[in-house]
Amino acid sequence: MSASILVVEDESSIAEVLVYNLEREGYEVRVAERGDLALSSIRERMPDLVILDLMLPRIDGLDVLRELRRERSTRALPVVVLTAKSEEIDRIVGLELGADDYIPKPFSPREVTLRVKAILRRLDYPDQRDEAAITVGGVCVDPEAFTCTVDGGEVPLTATEFRLLHLLMQRRGRVQTRERLLNDVWGYPEDVDTRTVDTHVRRLRCKMGPRADSLETVFGVGYRFRGQ
Ligand code: CA
Repeated sequence: MSASILVVEDESSIAEVLVYNLEREGYEVRVAERGDLALSSIRERMPDLVILDLMLPRIDGLDVLRELRRERSTRALPVVVLTAKSEEIDRIVGLELGADDYIPKPFSPREVTLRVKAILRRLDYPDQRDEAAITVGGVCVDPEAFTCTVDGGEVPLTATEFRLLHLLMQRRGRVQTRERLLNDVWGYPEDVDTRTVDTHVRRLRCKMGPRADSLETVFGVGYRFRGQ
């Protein structure tokens, strides 16, 4: 069965381009023109991925994302955000909202389909499912239960945050470059340009509270989970 994608965009010309290109890739595509309609559409039938514009009438994209991350049933739903202005990227970072990736406008439709494909492909093969839980320095990830705890308290993570943390913990003590992480966590080829790795690490640190320093930045290279 083909994966279903919800495009949330009020500008019909942009929505049409996205629908055309995604349908050509074989996806089943729905469109919601407003934030409130997006939420009701998702509640009615869960899509496999959401492409979310931030500038929407009534409930804007940030509120939609906040709502999706607040509810347990949609916390892991992959969301790719479209942003029109660079300030909006900073707002996302600042608000720690948990998009799986963001794409600045204007975008090439090829770029969007490439990222959608990559994210859905990663989710298709949940290679973490059979793996044992890992605990390092108070941080525990359990792939089977899809839970993360820090000093015993549960920390809610999005699917991509979980993948990233799990992979860094598996490879603890070893530096992982941004390119490597984009490839292994997002499934992107090397030429995709995005700050999403940094955003995700920042968000993970924020969620890890007192254990934030387990996630080290190796300047000019990438990130490393502190080994034990
Ligand atoms: Ca818009």
